[in-house]
Amino acid sequence: MGKLDGRVVIVTGAARGQGEQEARLFAAEGASVVVADVLDEQGEALAKELGASYVHLDVGEEADWGAAVGAAKEAYGRIDGLVNNAGILRFNSLVDTPLEEFMQVVRVNQVGCFLGIKAVAAAMEDGGTIVNTASYTAVTGMAAVGAYAATKHAILGLTRVAALELADRRIRVNAMCPGAIDTAMSNPAQLDPDADVEGMSRALDELYRKLVPLGRIGKPAEVARLALFLTSDDSSYITGQPFVIDGGWLAGVSVI
Ligand code: NAD
Repeated sequence: MGKLDGRVVIVTGAARGQGEQEARLFAAEGASVVVADVLDEQGEALAKELGASYVHLDVGEEADWGAAVGAAKEAYGRIDGLVNNAGILRFNSLVDTPLEEFMQVVRVNQVGCFLGIKAVAAAMEDGGTIVNTASYTAVTGMAAVGAYAATKHAILGLTRVAALELADRRIRVNAMCPGAIDTAMSNPAQLDPDADVEGMSRALDELYRKLVPLGRIGKPAEVARLALFLTSDDSSYITGQPFVIDGGWLAGVSVI
């Protein structure tokens, strides 16, 4: 018996990183998974390996959402879950951030999440779950990621309002707030064939040993387990809440 037997779940940004681990875990728990991303080659390969479906979905494009929902319904007849995981990060001080860059981050992280809630909730006929991927930066500030932090704060607002508006249709909506997680977003060296990935990972380990009480960067599979909890009946009485998963980073600072 899997925790998601018979459930149909769309995971956005699922070609790599946290979304990939969510797709893997959900498939292992019995879900029919729709892998959605703009990285078609990687997404298709993952879907094939998992016996899942792949759809090209740019989360900032409303027409793409319509097509993705249509493809999921055609393949499986229903939709029970969505993980709004796709996201992008840009580093800049606020005063140096060009409007175009700010809007690019808003389009993917915030508009993408809004469109996902709108398109998928409309297609859920028998209750369901929506899990929005916010961030540690949804609940505190972090210099040099102002556009990103603004969108992640906004995702918590969308989560709470959607939870209120969709509760009578038995659709639960929650958010995850990961701290630093070891994916290409935190460690871009993973995407550069010429980079010293191990050296970069060692440097990150050293950084997070000092910053994070649990003394390490998080693993995407750990976030996937939280996504599973929020997508399965294990969280049946929980809606509208942010869940911080950060190794204790937000707990406070240590002065000795
Ligand atoms: P990642 O960069 O490895 O994965 C992001 C995925 O989103 C990629 O597969 C990418 O192709 C996809 N994507 C980007 N733009 C898209 C678009 N317009 N439409 C569809 N897909 C798109 O990074 P990750 O860490 O796996 O990120 C997953 C989520 O977790 C993001 O929302 C990110 O903001 C959030 N997050 C990451 C960290 C971290 O430290 N890695 C911390 C907190 C929150």
